[in-house]
Amino acid sequence: MNSSQYEVVIIGAGLAGLRLSSELQRAGIQSLIVEKSDQPGGRVKTIEKEGFLLDLGFQVLLDSYDELDKSITIEKLDLSSFDSGAILVNKGTKKHLFNPLKHPEKILNTLFGYPGKFSDMVRILRMAYRSVFSKNDFYARKDSVSTRQFLLQQGFSQEIIDSFFTPFFGGVFLDPQLEVSANYFLWLLDKFRVGNACLPKLGMGQIAKSMTTTSGEIRFGEEATSIVKNTILLKSGKEIEAKWIVNATGKEDVVFGGYVKNDNEFRSATTVYLKGPKLTTSLKSLVLVGNPESSILHFSFPSEIQKNYAPEGFSLCSVSLKWSGLNLDPLELTEKILKELSLEYPDISWSGYSYLAHFDIPYALPKWTTGNESTFTVLDHRIVIGDHVAYPSINGALKSGREAGEFLRKQIQAGM
Ligand SMILES: Cc1cc2nc3c(=O)[nH]c(=O)nc-3n(C[C@H](O)[C@H](O)[C@H](O)COP(=O)(O)OP(=O)(O)OC[C@H]3O[C@@H](n4cnc5c(N)ncnc54)[C@H](O)[C@@H]3O)c2cc1C
Repeated sequence: MNSSQYEVVIIGAGLAGLRLSSELQRAGIQSLIVEKSDQPGGRVKTIEKEGFLLDLGFQVLLDSYDELDKSITIEKLDLSSFDSGAILVNKGTKKHLFNPLKHPEKILNTLFGYPGKFSDMVRILRMAYRSVFSKNDFYARKDSVSTRQFLLQQGFSQEIIDSFFTPFFGGVFLDPQLEVSANYFLWLLDKFRVGNACLPKLGMGQIAKSMTTTSGEIRFGEEATSIVKNTILLKSGKEIEAKWIVNATGKEDVVFGGYVKNDNEFRSATTVYLKGPKLTTSLKSLVLVGNPESSILHFSFPSEIQKNYAPEGFSLCSVSLKWSGLNLDPLELTEKILKELSLEYPDISWSGYSYLAHFDIPYALPKWTTGNESTFTVLDHRIVIGDHVAYPSINGALKSGREAGEFLRKQIQAGM
């Protein structure tokens, strides 16, 4: 049995763990990350299959996230963005809702092909205006109803809720019921208003990979199984002693007896990837499916945003489903999805598309309620960080890691 001693050991090389490690590294404090998988990033990963880049489920990076420029050199990601807005389809009918300030060329489409009532448009503008004044910590305020309740209170029509808000924000929050707090919704709405939903050139996994250049040492393939006093026991039989132990494992609470208590506290996500011939007409928008009978929430073509996502001559289509956790047979699933896509969006010849991969992720986003006092928790010399403590997003994970890092730096410099 090997035993070694460190000032700080971080369990988990997701974005929160990497961010904390970089913060310490910058202050000249050495840390060790133990990571059970063979690559960094946790939920933000990209795998390669047949020359396609597949993110672990449909994910985007909002370039307006305020933690980004504190955490990474954003230029290195070579970001490219989706159109700001969406196409809304329902059994072959097509409507448009685009941000007129970012897409003046689509203003006529939006005005004449707009999905809701005119009063909904006025309400959207009013709400976007209101979100401008939401402070950076607005999401955390306790006095919030659910997003659905809020939209109903604001007088939005059922039509715009079903055709736009549910598939768009239901997809972002992985919560088609829109139970997420309205404060968080307004905060995020503002991020969408000022920023763009982007993909890095080499896939979302590039975010984490770029952070390993500033973090401390990482040991991959090392799973922590428990902690006894200040010693971490690893599955490999090794033991590591540390003055400070940080749990950055996201959901898994084996180590600390945990912050997150059970599976019901997570939202799941299912993404199916289809491959097909290169599109003849560019489609840089998210397409939202408003048909309540459809299994599809939305679909898009990441290869239209970043050409590296598909080999030359091919397209990659990412389809997000409403349901999850099912034991899916890929062929049956593909047949069903292609049938639905042909009904909802007949402009594309779907017969040329076939199954590439799918990800069914039970622990995609923590169910989160507003009102957390802090983005990390501390008990003795143990700290818990991650999106489940801060708030569910890349920005939340980064903020949690950064703020815990600042706290730890001060503690260590004070000799604690
Ligand atoms: C399908 C999907 C879509 C998403 N879409 C978006 C989006 O569009 N925009 C957005 O902002 N956010 C999105 N998110 C959320 C975002 O990915 C997370 O909020 C963020 O990555 C969480 O980071 P984390 O470091 O807190 O946790 P994690 O990423 O879960 O990292 C935890 C790490 O700990 C490791 N680990 C766990 N247990 C152990 C152990 N016992 N020993 C050693 N290592 C261990 C894990 O392998 C992992 O690497 C999405 C998430 C998913 C899954």
